Amino acid sequence: MKTIFSGIQPSGILTLGNYLGAMKHFVPLQDEFNCFYCIVDQHAITVPQEPAVLKENIRRLAALYLAVGLDPQKVTLFIQSEVPAHAKLGWIMLCTSYVGELERMTQFKDKSSGRGESVPGGLLAYPPLMAADILLYDTDFVPVGEDQKQHLELTRDLATRFNNRYGEIFKIPDIRVAEVGARIMSLQDGTKKMSKSDPNQGGFISMLDEPDTIVKKVKRAQTDSDNSIRFDKENKPAISNLLTIYSLCSGKPIQELETMYEGKGYGAFKTDLAEVVVETLKPIQDRFHQLFSSPELDKILTAGAEKANQAANKMLYKVEKAMGMARL
Ligand code: ATP
Ligand code: MG
Repeated sequence: MKTIFSGIQPSGILTLGNYLGAMKHFVPLQDEFNCFYCIVDQHAITVPQEPAVLKENIRRLAALYLAVGLDPQKVTLFIQSEVPAHAKLGWIMLCTSYVGELERMTQFKDKSSGRGESVPGGLLAYPPLMAADILLYDTDFVPVGEDQKQHLELTRDLATRFNNRYGEIFKIPDIRVAEVGARIMSLQDGTKKMSKSDPNQGGFISMLDEPDTIVKKVKRAQTDSDNSIRFDKENKPAISNLLTIYSLCSGKPIQELETMYEGKGYGAFKTDLAEVVVETLKPIQDRFHQLFSSPELDKILTAGAEKANQAANKMLYKVEKAMGMARL
């Protein structure tokens, strides 16, 4: 059986972008693959986090993974920091990488811009840690949003570089990006990706937003200068993004939506879009609230960490042995 690994950071509350671009696709994969889904808290601390908020976001993310339909009997759901092999292999992958290639990563450039001398070192070391996350499990496929493509390329490069030096230790993983929805854009800026760590709350819809908040955010979403509802990514990025969200949440093809709203203004379109988003998130939110404070959630995470530790330690031992670090 082939193996899947994917991680999400508890760096905020998950957005509709995280759901449509990543999480939603995890569910059907669980029947076909050996899946490891990770709450990557060590990635989240590459930028400052408030301890109480981080703690809550870790638990929220765990509950959301299950609320969208992942079955803990089928998948391994765990917290990265509870599996120390990630940090250990992360260090080794950092030592395998070059500063030049890390500085070229667009996420590093985006997240470090405006910080002057105070760019956290962890932001630069992030992609080698991500490579470690993936390589520890003999991963075949990594389902992620489009923004992670570059990090995946680097993971493949680092794995190949390591193998060339120490022998065939790592499997070279493939990326899996959804055809539609792999890059949901900010509601306030159609040229910027939707991100859960965006300080502008209006830029994203969180998976846990109340219906009236969703209505407000959709109403205030940026539109384009003319009044027509047409998919044209280049000239009408904002409305094209809203059409993508509408289509993914309703299951209606974009062309059908264009016909439905021909001659109608943005107002009617936005009212219906908000309703479709509310309906999509409602069943997830209901399950989330049952799971969030349940002791069951802790049992699942404990069992997940145990399984992940077993698999990860095996790989780490192979790596350390190949490098001359394991004594026995
Ligand atoms: P942060 O702002 O803290 O980086 P994020 O919203 O980018 O948060 P991540 O935890 O970095 O979320 O990524 C989790 C998963 O969601 C990844 O697979 C990523 O590719 C995907 N993803 C993130 N943003 C989007 C988006 N706007 N559209 C589609 N997929 C996305
Ligand atoms: Mg991100």
